[in-house]
Amino acid sequence: MTDADRRKVLFNYWSLPSGLSFPYATVGAQNRSFQKHWLNEFTWLAYSNINNGAFCKWCVVFTPQTVSRSAKPPGSLVSGPHCNYEKAKEHYNNHQNCHCLKLCAAMFDNFVQTDADKSRDVRNALNSSRQKAVEENRNRLSRTIEGSQRRWYIFTERNRLQ
Ligand SMILES: [Zn+2]
Repeated sequence: MTDADRRKVLFNYWSLPSGLSFPYATVGAQNRSFQKHWLNEFTWLAYSNINNGAFCKWCVVFTPQTVSRSAKPPGSLVSGPHCNYEKAKEHYNNHQNCHCLKLCAAMFDNFVQTDADKSRDVRNALNSSRQKAVEENRNRLSRTIEGSQRRWYIFTERNRLQ
């Protein structure tokens, strides 16, 4: 996964079509659906309307780097959509407190910070190239002025000589 892929999954991939109604899943005798306000309660939570379920976007992106081979594989929310909404909040709270999420959260913070540093570097590079362009224009202009002054001088000198 490249940084561009990570950025996409963390920030772009999950935007939901406006007016999306979350499908109901039958749990026991009851119909439950994903509740949009959960997205505000859990910053890592994302809903995929393609997979019809919830994911932890931080763990989706960073788990491959934090899980050792001996650790148990990540469950729903990470390796697949979480669709059992009956005890969803309990499940999300458990996830919020799990060690894996804490590691992924630290990696997420670090990623955002590095990204901000990079874009600042890009901005600085742009600024310095813009600054260079301004200076080059100024130099070119003054060379042109010098050139035309010199040509004018040569012209008048020649005319004087003739
Ligand atoms: Zn997670």
